[in-house]
Amino acid sequence: MKIDYGEVGLKVGLEIHRQLDTRTKLFCDCPTEQVKGKEIVFQRWLREAQSELGEVDPAALFEARKRKKIVYHADTSSTCLVEMDEEPPHDLDQEALEVALTAALLMNAQPVDEVHVMRKIVIDGSNTTGFQRTCVVAMGGWVEAAGKRIPIQTITLEEDAARIIRQERGEIHYDLTRLGIPLIEVSTAPVIHSPREAYEAAYRIGRLLRATGKVKRGIGTVRQDLNISIRDGALIEIKGVQELDLLPKVVENEVVRQLHLLRIRDELRRRGVKREDIEGEEPRDVTHVFKQTKSKILRRKVSQGGRVMALRLPGFAGLIGLEARPGIRLGAEFAGRARAWSEVEGIFHTDELPGYGITGEEVEELRKTMGAGEMDAVVIVADEEEKARDALERVRERAAEALEGVPSETRGARPDGTTVYLRPRPGAARMYPETDLPPYPIRPEQVEELRRRLPPTLEEVAENLAKRYGLSPQAADELIDMEKVELFERIVSETGVAPTVVASTLTELMKSLRREGLETQHIPDQEFLEFFRMVDRGEIAKEAAEKVFRWLAENPGKTLREAVESLGLRPVSIEEVEQRINSLITAHRELVERNPGKAVSVIMGELMKDYRGKVDGARLFALVKERLAKQG
Ligand SMILES: [Zn+2]
Repeated sequence: MKIDYGEVGLKVGLEIHRQLDTRTKLFCDCPTEQVKGKEIVFQRWLREAQSELGEVDPAALFEARKRKKIVYHADTSSTCLVEMDEEPPHDLDQEALEVALTAALLMNAQPVDEVHVMRKIVIDGSNTTGFQRTCVVAMGGWVEAAGKRIPIQTITLEEDAARIIRQERGEIHYDLTRLGIPLIEVSTAPVIHSPREAYEAAYRIGRLLRATGKVKRGIGTVRQDLNISIRDGALIEIKGVQELDLLPKVVENEVVRQLHLLRIRDELRRRGVKREDIEGEEPRDVTHVFKQTKSKILRRKVSQGGRVMALRLPGFAGLIGLEARPGIRLGAEFAGRARAWSEVEGIFHTDELPGYGITGEEVEELRKTMGAGEMDAVVIVADEEEKARDALERVRERAAEALEGVPSETRGARPDGTTVYLRPRPGAARMYPETDLPPYPIRPEQVEELRRRLPPTLEEVAENLAKRYGLSPQAADELIDMEKVELFERIVSETGVAPTVVASTLTELMKSLRREGLETQHIPDQEFLEFFRMVDRGEIAKEAAEKVFRWLAENPGKTLREAVESLGLRPVSIEEVEQRINSLITAHRELVERNPGKAVSVIMGELMKDYRGKVDGARLFALVKERLAKQG
């Protein structure tokens, strides 16, 4: 389906988050680098938090209702009493503030006169305090991207949240190492009108942030959030897009999802479905229908003491299973909402039944029990009765919202570019001042000093790189975009391998392996360095790069030594090669005398069969010529 984004009135605003590579965290002296120390584990319970204005935030209420036990894992080398919320925050880290101000100047923004640290309610447990500290550093900038000026609304410094280790029923585990690492957040105005523009704006902002030279690299250091709306749809917040390349797909899918929900709304209205009809329905126990069922999940849940509960949805037949794209259908919305609130597993609806071990007879019996007509649908959930009932009440609420079109929600990005319901959108009353910290004035002289010392843009860096190492402008650009400049310079300075060979291995080869779906980003820098050291010492041929790095990508955690061993690329001695050349010359004696040129190519062909990837081709060729000259 081709979408006319102008026609649907797409508006996207971006929030780009990036970890800063400062010496210490934002409000304490712990390092931002991961170090291994002693682990402490402690627990907390979530509580409903009221803002100073006395309102309960809908997002906070949502988390509190789940009543989970929070288990924190803290490493003593990277966490202190501040992260554990046993001690007030220390002063705002000046290094982080300077990086944020530098980024602000690169984006033509106006620094604030005074930085005020605020508390933003976050009570999913990812902050031990129940809030995240955040402060606006600059406002009103712009970047040039997608052929236009994209306004930057705010540039903010905030503390990163704790990382989820695992979630179990009623329990959630967090690692505190990441908590408090400075994050810069750049928010654009919602003036982006296509997936392509979203990509280009994010790319441009990412490059300007990297020009500060003070951002962290690698997986988990960048998170892109989006605000998306279309005409007649709703404002949806999508959290946590980690890969820049995924951004356009997430935008496109969200437009498809909203259009799909609008079509369903129109059809429900056409069928004359009323809100009262849906809200009048109650979940009912239908366990008896599935007494003899072959469905594994239903049987398991019932044998564990659970019940099968059902909800009739009048007028919904055919609309729950209707799919706009893989993963985009009303059924997925129901399941996402039910699971977020109630953690149920088995949830089915009549559009997808019979199936999953549930027979046609059972479906018929189910419909009869529920009094469901041809145009009605039935949703069933198997779990502990209270959980199943709770889940179905969420489904009922979501079904009623389908009559309005698109409900306003916070959703999470998944690796395939689709999204899943996370929580309701937070209310406006979620920010209040951090009373433990003073305001921090920003002096005009400080800003002027930073302006004088602005780092070169990455375009300038690329130009220098290309000039210094004889690289093409594209190769230099790719080294920068793939964040391999430091590694490249280190390899080139420590080995005698040609810069163009190093660059193409780090960029072209990795890109082509990634296109095959291999995760080359997990290969440590050390293994690249070691590979080129071996090439330099003549222990391995540069042509072996593809084999070696493919193996390393397929075997995460293994070393180059193990790759060489496993691939049988063990170093070959020159004596061995020379002996082999001698015996080939003897074997082709007649050809060598009759047609020396032809003989060289025949012998080279044989040698390459034996030594491809082990000995450099040019080196073999030189050795053959040398031997022949001696014999001649
Ligand atoms: Zn600390």
